[in-house]
Amino acid sequence: MKDTGKGPALLRLNNEKRVMTALRHQRVTSRQDLSRALALSKNTVSLIIDDLIATGRVEERGAVTSSGVGRRKIEIALRPEMLQTAGIMVERQRVHMRVCDYFSQVLEEKSWQTQTQAPGPLLAELAQCCQQLALARPALLGIALGFPGIIDPQRGWMHHSSHLGWSETNLLAPVQAGITLLLAMNSVKAAALLSVQQLRLDPSDNCFYLRVAEGVGGALVRGGSVYTGSSWTAGEVGHLTIDSQGPRCTCGRNGCLETLISIPAVQRQFAERVPGLSWEKRECAPEMVDELMVQAGDRLGIALGQIMLLLNPANIVVDAPWSHHPRFVAAAQQRAQSSALGFTVQHTRLHFLQERIDPVTGLALAVIERYESPVG
Ligand SMILES: [Zn+2]
Repeated sequence: MKDTGKGPALLRLNNEKRVMTALRHQRVTSRQDLSRALALSKNTVSLIIDDLIATGRVEERGAVTSSGVGRRKIEIALRPEMLQTAGIMVERQRVHMRVCDYFSQVLEEKSWQTQTQAPGPLLAELAQCCQQLALARPALLGIALGFPGIIDPQRGWMHHSSHLGWSETNLLAPVQAGITLLLAMNSVKAAALLSVQQLRLDPSDNCFYLRVAEGVGGALVRGGSVYTGSSWTAGEVGHLTIDSQGPRCTCGRNGCLETLISIPAVQRQFAERVPGLSWEKRECAPEMVDELMVQAGDRLGIALGQIMLLLNPANIVVDAPWSHHPRFVAAAQQRAQSSALGFTVQHTRLHFLQERIDPVTGLALAVIERYESPVG
């Protein structure tokens, strides 16, 4: 094969990406420690760090006092504000935007009501928003757009969204002009990426993230990236059938998990039992709420058992508004334990988040993960 001369440059670029990932995870380190952790020569690491310092992305913090012999270490750290990313999440009639630094700290955020029935005008609105962000923020690496529905993130193509009523839509072309790195993906899949970072889980372990909101969705994160499946529906746990006699779902079937434990489903159950009762007014009828939370937890537990058996993740993260309720958590744990093999249950850690993940920050993180992924 003809040597195009790109080999060394590509190798250098990919090594820089590995250094960026290590700096992001370790926060403060040294050239020597990076060299050891990444199995790169000290010279290679030093050249990359010198370049990152020259372009303002890394700073030296000073010498570390060490009792050992050998060269003294100089602490280095990323300057997270010098590398910014943005997430823009579309929901029905609403858009949320966040700009984050390289450590996922929020620098700016905005939410607004808008019309989302037709893709054309909404994508034109997003294009304008992206242009303004790119102009106002020279340190912006890229932007990720998040939507509900079945999305091919490689092509930035939406196949279908029952929540928005959109089908077969190119999400990137109308927005792309002038944006170097633009992604489009399912918002829940972006939240899944953030859950691994937020809980400081081992990125090499498999993690399944399950989100209960207006709908119920999920995603499997493997080695720091989301597994989308061959037709982009991997992780769609909201449509697992839990009760075939249950309510009708938007997908046309009955008793999907989403029809039983999503926010609208549980609020409907509250109102059916006691007119006017809602999650917000749960103190008014604690026994009724306990009963419904046990029911919701039990239904979730059936799905958790299926996820454990099918995917065998090391961790399952449940991100639900009901996770503050001890009866919900206990019922889900109990049912999951009785629904899967004992050996599998013993090796699966269940996490019920007390602080909910914001998918918009997850979208901003998805840009960083794409930026750091190897090329070539
Ligand atoms: Zn369904």
